[in-house]
Amino acid sequence: MILIYAESPDGQLKKVALEAVTYGAKLASAMGTTCAALTIGTVADAGSLGKYGAGKVYNIAGEDVDNQNIAKAVADVAEKIGAEVVVMPFTSTGKSIQGRVAAILNAGVVSGVSALPDLSNGFVVRKPVFSGKAFADTKITSEKKVLSLMGNAIPLEELGAAVDVETIDIDLAPCKVKRLSVEKQAGGIPLPEAELVVSGGRGLKGPENWNVLLELAEALGASTACSRPVADMDWRPHHEHVGQTGIAIRPNLYIAMGISGAIQHLAGVNNSKTIVVINKDPEAPFFKAADYGVVGDLFEVVPKLTEAVKRLKA
Ligand SMILES: Cc1cc2nc3c(=O)[nH]c(=O)nc-3n(C[C@H](O)[C@H](O)[C@H](O)COP(=O)(O)OP(=O)(O)OC[C@H]3O[C@@H](n4cnc5c(N)ncnc54)[C@H](O)[C@@H]3O)c2cc1C
Repeated sequence: MILIYAESPDGQLKKVALEAVTYGAKLASAMGTTCAALTIGTVADAGSLGKYGAGKVYNIAGEDVDNQNIAKAVADVAEKIGAEVVVMPFTSTGKSIQGRVAAILNAGVVSGVSALPDLSNGFVVRKPVFSGKAFADTKITSEKKVLSLMGNAIPLEELGAAVDVETIDIDLAPCKVKRLSVEKQAGGIPLPEAELVVSGGRGLKGPENWNVLLELAEALGASTACSRPVADMDWRPHHEHVGQTGIAIRPNLYIAMGISGAIQHLAGVNNSKTIVVINKDPEAPFFKAADYGVVGDLFEVVPKLTEAVKRLKA
């Protein structure tokens, strides 16, 4: 049995949780077993996890959660249903609970995996290392295994139909910490989950020019990102900074404008499926990493691109 922890902040399933279910269903099929998903608290449309491959969806009642009692609950359910592998999203919650779950289950753990395990010689999982410049293949030799899955690592697939949600008789332990308040970042889809990202660098010359970028992002329905100096100069908020010292992302489409493509920037974005670079310098290093490149002044190119996207969408 494979157990997926389907993370659902504010009662909404995260996209990476759905991806983890697809991942778990495919792994279950390769291992000749089945896959169950676990939600905690009140979750909208939890039964829809069946569509992504969960044969069963379990729910634990209770809203008072912290990472410690989530980890304990996930491990308890894994024990109860006899799960050999537990999969969770590689989110801040996933990163926080994966080690705890593994410790309780005495399991080997690999975090941030990006592909299904190779089962031809044991249980070998692949994850990107050195800022995405290399892959590490790791064999888990323990009987039980814990994995966390990177967002956008595998495409979402509808593999089944919605199922009824079963309440499972596991108690949430009392929280040892209490969250007093949460201040959320404004804006659209968080960068690690975004499929489309439009990003700007120092070539935009100043925050007053960001509308050029924002209009393209809005036309595409994309999230926005930036290079580090842009965040350092407070042209954009720090949570938009991508790269080695910022967020690592892997969207389907990354459009970079006015960004030189320094190695530290590429470290966070070179796992994007398609990279489009707009830069007026034909020698900009980013062009070497680009699938499509436009040599030109972004202030001329981007508004035309935005118009073209709007026309296409209309
Ligand atoms: C330890 C360390 C960690 C770092 N971590 C990060 C990180 O996580 N993320 C990150 O981004 N950087 C990081 N950096 C900084 C990195 O080395 C680069 O300095 C930075 O990425 C450059 O940002 P930029 O491309 O926006 O600016 P610039 O290097 O100034 O490039 C601006 C680009 O815009 C182009 N341009 C200018 N005007 C136009 C125009 N009108 N139209 C089109 N193109 C134009 C220029 O040709 C140029 O290529 C790190 C550096 C160090 C030392």
